[in-house]
Amino acid sequence: MIKSFGYAAQSATTPLGLFTFERRELNPHDVQIDILYCGVCHSDLHTVRNEWQNSVYPVVPGHEIVGRVVKIGEQVSNFKVGEAVGVGCMVDSCRTCPNCRKGFQQYCDNEIIFTYNSPEKQTGKITYGGYSNQIVVDENYVLRVSEKLDLASVAPLLCAGITTYSPLRYWKVGKGDKVGIVGLGGLGHMGLKFAHAFGAYTVLFTTSSGKTEDAKRLGADEVVISKNSDEMNKHINSFDFILSTVSVSHNLDAYTELLKRGGTLCLVGVPEHPHPSPSIANLIFKRREIAGSLIGGIQETQEMLDFCAEHNIVCDIELIPIQQVNQAYERMLKSDVKYRFVIDIASLKEE
Ligand code: NAP
Ligand code: ZN
Repeated sequence: MIKSFGYAAQSATTPLGLFTFERRELNPHDVQIDILYCGVCHSDLHTVRNEWQNSVYPVVPGHEIVGRVVKIGEQVSNFKVGEAVGVGCMVDSCRTCPNCRKGFQQYCDNEIIFTYNSPEKQTGKITYGGYSNQIVVDENYVLRVSEKLDLASVAPLLCAGITTYSPLRYWKVGKGDKVGIVGLGGLGHMGLKFAHAFGAYTVLFTTSSGKTEDAKRLGADEVVISKNSDEMNKHINSFDFILSTVSVSHNLDAYTELLKRGGTLCLVGVPEHPHPSPSIANLIFKRREIAGSLIGGIQETQEMLDFCAEHNIVCDIELIPIQQVNQAYERMLKSDVKYRFVIDIASLKEE
């Protein structure tokens, strides 16, 4: 076993604190990674506080991981010691169901293994995530990251990046489209960057009036304060696609009615409490759709990382020592994230 340490929550009501544990010894296809940076996703907070009622404590969160390979199993062919790599939200899946075979591992019909809070295939123990000094992952679930980019700012691409890239690609967002991004947090700011990079006319919906200038810098052509119904009404029947990244339950009708005929409202936020039931008439009368989307497959995540390297796209981050992660959660709850916290794992010490 490989002695490791990180930050864990011991219950839904205790702050994260130092925790020592063991990683598995390397199997032939495993890669051992020294973690350099780990992004702070709202999903970490949902899990730490058991808002989805499936947390197994202790929880070591973190699924926006960038690090360096320090050791490889004897049959590893894709990675070398010293390379910069990434690990996102999943570390395994069944590999045989139709979804896994097509590269949609995130939609595995059998047993997707998340980076934390999942029973590990190899040991049966619960997985521990990236708020830690190192991790052992099967090479098939490890991503390549470009050293041309700032590695700390790359880390959140592994979740916030792919979760917005994938639906924008799936719904073929591009030139001539009018696209809305709801919520300017970790996911939302990457949604703006990608929608803008794909050539769409991009509108940010926000509850925070202080974010307008930032939104424009990040790629918004227009910013709408969603609490202002006059501003909202100007956009009725006009959107091809709207991506909601909001982390709390909200009124979906306010957005479905902004879609034009056949338009799609795609939800990626996973709030603690369900959304109020949407108006079906709002959908029927314009053949509108409400959809959901989960992260992205391994191949698509690599495609996204390569796209970002080519177009010089990274996340806007605030780098924090791990000792500040509990305060970062409180700021996240106040929508005070500019626009992703990333933990500098160098600050993590064993004592
Ligand atoms: P985040 O950084 O906290 O951003 C969420 C944003 O939602 C806030 O910045 C805020 O934007 C908006 N918001 C917050 N409270 C609101 C309220 N009461 N009413 C309206 N808007 C509000 O969170 P994140 O890390 O981007 O994650 C967002 C959600 O996506 C979380 O639920 C997370 O679990 C989920 N997620 C899903 C996937 C997936 O695969 N589907 C992957 C990762 C994360 P404004 O200030 O601009 O209003
Ligand atoms: Zn995430």
